[in-house]
Amino acid sequence: MDDIATNLRTIEDRIAAACRKVEQDPSSVRLLPVSKTMSTDKIMAAYDAGYRRFGENKVQEAHDKWERLSDVDGLEWAVIGHLQRNKARLVAQFASEFEALDSLRLAKELDKRLQAQGRRLDVLVQVNSSGEESKFGLAPEAVVGFARELAAFDALRVRGLMTLAVFSSEQTRVAQCFQRMVDVRERLRQADDVTVGEGWEELSMGMSGDFELAIEYGATVVRVGQAIFGARLDPNAYWPGAGEAAGG
Ligand SMILES: *Cc1c(COP(=O)(O)O)cnc(C)c1O
Repeated sequence: MDDIATNLRTIEDRIAAACRKVEQDPSSVRLLPVSKTMSTDKIMAAYDAGYRRFGENKVQEAHDKWERLSDVDGLEWAVIGHLQRNKARLVAQFASEFEALDSLRLAKELDKRLQAQGRRLDVLVQVNSSGEESKFGLAPEAVVGFARELAAFDALRVRGLMTLAVFSSEQTRVAQCFQRMVDVRERLRQADDVTVGEGWEELSMGMSGDFELAIEYGATVVRVGQAIFGARLDPNAYWPGAGEAAGG
């Protein structure tokens, strides 16, 4: 588990270096460790290294970890993967942040469930910046209209935008995705009638393979999993037995 602390320090150094390159203050970029498929022991290793909020893409798994680690002081969860409406109740119960908001129906359901729990939730709107069919998120040109509608939901604290860039070794293609996000945020800034004040500043983009490039384009949150916790061999590895069944 020592290697997790070491990996975190290495990523922090790389974030700082990327920030220096574009004259950004390193404290303006938040590293969100993505712990999906990883054991609670590994999460605790990152906790001991100073991290409190962890990213998970599957609600059921995140909820299970939340329950198991409920006595750990200050631990928080960010759900970063697509959410079905019938799981909104779970997210409302335990999450501090939700980065994959992509429909009004989901916003409405989350708001209702949060109101019932007396909770609020930080949300980021997911944008499909690559145009790939396989990716979730709003089309870039739909974001301003969506933002106007979101103002109606009191329990949702809108923080900004999230995206997954195209998975490619061609930097220019990845960079195009990040640039589209910068453009969307600029359009939001110019739409005076988006009545959410300062709420749209966050840009969550960049993962293990592309976070330095994302920072060059102004990422304020980078979601890093494998570079911290090691390779994910099996997407279901967290559940007992599932990893073995898959030979992992
Ligand atoms: C898994 C995941 C990440 C982290 O990916 P790595 O390649 O492990 O860094 C980031 N964002 C989302 C939405 C993810 O599902």
